[in-house]
Amino acid sequence: MSNSTATQGASAAAQKAHAEIIEQCQRIYYDVRLEALAQWKKEDPSRTAVGFLPVYAPREIFVGAGVRPVAVFGGGDQVNVICGDSFYQSYICHLPRSVVELGLTSWKSALDGLVCPAICDVIRNVSGVWQVLFKDKLTYFLDLPQNFDSAVGGKFYRRQLEELAERLCQMSRTKFDQDRFAEALRSYNRNRRAVRALCNLRVDKPHWVPAWEFYLLMRAGDQMDADGHSEILLKYMDVVSELDRAEQDNARIMIVGGFCEQPPLNLIRTIERSGCYLVDDDFTLGARFLEADAAEDGDPLQALVDVYLRHSTYSSVKYEGDVPKSKQLVETARDRRADGVLLMSPSFCDPSLLDRPHFQRALEDAGIPYSTLQYAENLGQFGPIREQTGTFAEAIKLWGEG
Ligand code: SF4
Repeated sequence: MSNSTATQGASAAAQKAHAEIIEQCQRIYYDVRLEALAQWKKEDPSRTAVGFLPVYAPREIFVGAGVRPVAVFGGGDQVNVICGDSFYQSYICHLPRSVVELGLTSWKSALDGLVCPAICDVIRNVSGVWQVLFKDKLTYFLDLPQNFDSAVGGKFYRRQLEELAERLCQMSRTKFDQDRFAEALRSYNRNRRAVRALCNLRVDKPHWVPAWEFYLLMRAGDQMDADGHSEILLKYMDVVSELDRAEQDNARIMIVGGFCEQPPLNLIRTIERSGCYLVDDDFTLGARFLEADAAEDGDPLQALVDVYLRHSTYSSVKYEGDVPKSKQLVETARDRRADGVLLMSPSFCDPSLLDRPHFQRALEDAGIPYSTLQYAENLGQFGPIREQTGTFAEAIKLWGEG
């Protein structure tokens, strides 16, 4: 075989492998009604699955309790909300409406419960509505620590995790399995390493990792076990290195503010096509919430507590602690070599919008260009956003200003 034939062969194999990965991720992404999960449970009725809302939930605890953890984000632009609207006033974000809609119409046979992490009043309200609507299922409001002292927040969080484990075990009718829990901790550590490697690749070679592919890869982790997801990420990184994707003269943009209600996939594609390389974002932040591994020696429960206290990322849904979030935003933008920042919030999202003025001031002081925009998960018109982000990217390339 000649060298050129061998190269073409390798490239065709990489293209095929790449297409298969993206297709698998798309299947998961578009399955907002959780039909594959319902089928998985139907095959063995003793199986249990519990959803959790954004942003972060300790999936290791679910696994230790014999429960499959499933990250759920609402219906995006795929669900026509009819019943869900009647539970909420008009001036709040869209996510709770589609969560209730899907709960009433589609998730009944897929989910045995819902964990609602304490991130805002809206999610607190969802947990109340869920409890009233689905009395036969688990509803658990997970309080996360806002004090990072081990003796205070650490003690509190450990008790929260123990209680969550108890409630999940009651529902799954199993005993908490310490070995399975410790193994899950190791699996999610491997997964966090794979995710970090992909994030680093994106910073170094954003033309290899288009934002919409990155997003699909992260969303695929919603329904997969940690090791299966890590395998896909590692394979993806292998194949994109062979795809020969050319670099373009795009602006390097970091997005902040979309950690809960997710933008439609086409909005991410629109931003990218308007001349932006996304070198970082906080969509699907849960899988990246812990920025270091949990210790694998010693007590795994304490390891999960400690890694949250010491190594969880800055976020609008977290108390800011000693280092101001705006300072961390600037440091992250510099670390990612971002030319500009897009402060991008879901409409009516209090945590995201309340941080915006602080972020704007910090970016202005640091001389980092920024632009702001709002979206809803069911947004259908992308033209104005394409013009806005395209102009932002061009201004950065021409003058280094937003
Ligand atoms: S989008 Fe914002 S306001 Fe709405 S549930 Fe999420 S964090 Fe709360």
